[in-house]
Amino acid sequence: MRAMILEQQGQPLRAAEIPIPAPGPEQLLIRIHACGVCRTDLHIVDGDLPNPKLPLVPGHQIVGQVQKIGNTVQEFQVGDRIGVPWLQGSCGKCNYCQTERENLCDNAIYTGYQVDGGFAEYCVANAKFAFSLPPHYSDIQAAPLLCAGLIGYRSLKLAGEARNIGFYGFGASAHLLAQVVRHQGGSVYAFTRPGDTKAQQLARDLGAVWAGDSDEKPPVVLDAAIIFAPVGELVPAALRAIGKGGTVVCAGIHMSDIPSFPYDILWEERCVRSVANLTREDGREFLMLAHLLPLETHVVTYPLERVNEALADLRAGRFSGAAVITLMQDEIKKE
Ligand SMILES: [Zn+2]
Ligand SMILES: [Zn+2]
Repeated sequence: MRAMILEQQGQPLRAAEIPIPAPGPEQLLIRIHACGVCRTDLHIVDGDLPNPKLPLVPGHQIVGQVQKIGNTVQEFQVGDRIGVPWLQGSCGKCNYCQTERENLCDNAIYTGYQVDGGFAEYCVANAKFAFSLPPHYSDIQAAPLLCAGLIGYRSLKLAGEARNIGFYGFGASAHLLAQVVRHQGGSVYAFTRPGDTKAQQLARDLGAVWAGDSDEKPPVVLDAAIIFAPVGELVPAALRAIGKGGTVVCAGIHMSDIPSFPYDILWEERCVRSVANLTREDGREFLMLAHLLPLETHVVTYPLERVNEALADLRAGRFSGAAVITLMQDEIKKE
């Protein structure tokens, strides 16, 4: 099969022909139709995240069709359309797994990091951690739900009760979450890279009540803020934008160092926290919500061979919404 593989961190992916993997007893063999591109992929390729399996097929927002099932699989059948997220497996035995926090599992395995992911024609995946997908989303539209949407949704839950919420970075996650917030009756304030009028326009189109540069002050005191951009300087900026008792959630897996800041911007029970990974419960809740709403997904597609270009465009902020690798040639033209 065709695959884009990472041989060494800091280098671009290389097009390769590798064997189609065989599913183990609990696994599915999936013919991949689409795979979302996430900032985490960029951190793995760039070397911000240590010790990936090498060589590696990255990619962890996989949409495809089940081709074969392992002999103990009961969750899915051949022909089902499924989604494979970042969490590929947890141990079920550690303290975290036993207290409904499998996202923090001591022995977790992640897709496109410790095992091969979705920048290829096929992959295998643990059936117990795969999801059914809402039917009215195309493969390309469904892909960004699996991490941008899902882990974004977990971030939103951890932001707590918030009527006015700030999003720092308006990309793949924020453009989906803005719609969830609006549905829940809240107001979104979108902060982008200074001068990124395209992202600010997308934010307004999706219902943000205000959009501006990340160094601007919002017109109201925010109840909470979620930082999607991997930029530590935004933590004190967000703390200055929220009110008493508010929470700043850092939604990414990696962030540049946070500069020191005066205690009085944390005082009065303001809180800074991170979000790590996902639980299957987050996935079920979010995909049900995506089924009911439905969410408008803005995607830009690239064929498999151009993953490096998608990653470079993500790094440079050259597109709005989410990047998706498609393996269906005709869909490249359609979208
Ligand atoms: Zn991701
Ligand atoms: Zn565990």
